Amino acid sequence: MLLHFIFVIKDTDLGKRDKEFEYVKQMANFYQKWIKEKFSIEFDIKCDEMITKPRKFFQRLDTHSLAQDHKQRDKDTYHFYLCHFRPLWTDCTCEGYHAENFGMIKWVIPEDPNNTTFLAQRNCVVVSHELCHELLRQVKYKRYIEDVHDIWTQHYFNDLSFENYDQHFEKTLEEPFFQTIDISSFTLNKN
Ligand SMILES: [Zn+2]
Repeated sequence: MLLHFIFVIKDTDLGKRDKEFEYVKQMANFYQKWIKEKFSIEFDIKCDEMITKPRKFFQRLDTHSLAQDHKQRDKDTYHFYLCHFRPLWTDCTCEGYHAENFGMIKWVIPEDPNNTTFLAQRNCVVVSHELCHELLRQVKYKRYIEDVHDIWTQHYFNDLSFENYDQHFEKTLEEPFFQTIDISSFTLNKN
């Protein structure tokens, strides 16, 4: 199975966001390992950039056009879009959206692209939120929406700590290079 991260950038930003894309590639490798550990699912990983051109209002790029893109590419591949816009509609408590083999988040652009702590705390952790919905669904976990949202609330309002990882994918108590939600309270039936 393939997990394909797609970094969606405006054509005017071409060449200006290479450092962030480097982070995306490292994050993809991190999630390959994290998913194997947490969900016992093995993915191959791929990363690409997708360049968008300015569009007229009625042709605006939105979740629907991304879902079309996903189906046209290969609906059996898990496509995950990291976008410069937010989903028009979502049932999530973050700026992301999930469906079968499909994920998207609004990627928050850092003022300083070298600020990996910002990237971890604003983007990487939101990716883990959407990954969890879809992966829990895949392992037939019933409350794959509610439980993720309960944990998300606990992280933001009840002082539950996020999981922080360093550049080498090891757990750390220092500033995170990667950050995820804590799913240790979920009971998964691993094969
Ligand atoms: Zn959600």
